[in-house]
Amino acid sequence: MKALTVIPGRVGSARLEAVPDPTPEQGEVLVQTLAVGVCGTDIDILAGHYGTPAPGREHLILGHEALGRVLDAPPGCGLQPGDLVAGIVRRPDPVPCLNCAAGEWDMCRNGLFSERGIKSLDGFCSERFRIEPAFAVKLSLRLERTGALVEPASVVAKAWEHIDRIGSRAVWSPSRVLVTGAGPIGLLAALLGVQRGLEMHVLDRVTDGPKPELVRSLGATYHTSSIQEARPDADIIVECTGATALVIDAINYNAPNGIVCLTGVSSGERRQTIDVSTLNRTMVLQNDVVFGSVNANRRHFEAAVKALEQADQAWLEGLITRRVPLARWEEALVRQPFDVKPLIELAT
Ligand code: BGC
Repeated sequence: MKALTVIPGRVGSARLEAVPDPTPEQGEVLVQTLAVGVCGTDIDILAGHYGTPAPGREHLILGHEALGRVLDAPPGCGLQPGDLVAGIVRRPDPVPCLNCAAGEWDMCRNGLFSERGIKSLDGFCSERFRIEPAFAVKLSLRLERTGALVEPASVVAKAWEHIDRIGSRAVWSPSRVLVTGAGPIGLLAALLGVQRGLEMHVLDRVTDGPKPELVRSLGATYHTSSIQEARPDADIIVECTGATALVIDAINYNAPNGIVCLTGVSSGERRQTIDVSTLNRTMVLQNDVVFGSVNANRRHFEAAVKALEQADQAWLEGLITRRVPLARWEEALVRQPFDVKPLIELAT
């Protein structure tokens, strides 16, 4: 079968190549891949900055945002041929740590977890993949065209769950939320916020392309200024860019008892000096919380499926700005000016 592979650490090593079919040790469920989303992590892997092949291997099959159709599944596992599934990315560490032992692998404490298409496990961008039933999440047919968004939505569902948990430390009735960055994570964060009845604001730098309208059609407000001007008093800020200046502003400008959730992985290229003394004073005197959030466990994938199933499918389809067939995979991996989420399509 064909698969999109890369040699982690080697720029320009991505190839579409023939690889052996997946073997049952990789999971009892055999899946035909329909589509795989491309995200910043994939671009980082292609740039040689990230990613690890499976032990003893040089190549890694790319892709962690999968939508597929079950071809074969063991009886009684809850899946049947024809079912649509999304694949969970992370696998618990083998020790396992306390969190991995409890199914909370997104909170792994020792870093020995693996991630499909990213760290020590092949990903989903092959014509077929295998997966363990416990890591395959069933989707309704409603998500036939948009199910590749379940993985990024799971990351956002986790962020919201943790915001709620932190908020419950006091009497908490948030009303206003600012999301920085109108990429897939930012837009999905805004969608989940609207579904919670919150007043949503989204800040991005672009004035053209689909982003402003995607935000407005959610009933949220689109801003292109700065956090200080857009919503300096937001109860919650979900930072989805990893851009140094925005991260600092998010920490500096939020309401008392504010919660800042950082979801963007910074490139590490831009350094900026911050006044820790003022920052500390503000955070202490205002009971602020700044926390990072990554990955998602099965509960978050299930919450993501519910959120996407409730969403307007035309709006979700608007997030998918390009559908590129596998044969033209290279196009999908090059960012276009108005991209939100490009998909590689492997079958229909
Ligand atoms: C994925 C996460 C993963 C993270 C770090 C993100 O792109 O969505 O599942 O944990 O990268 O590898």
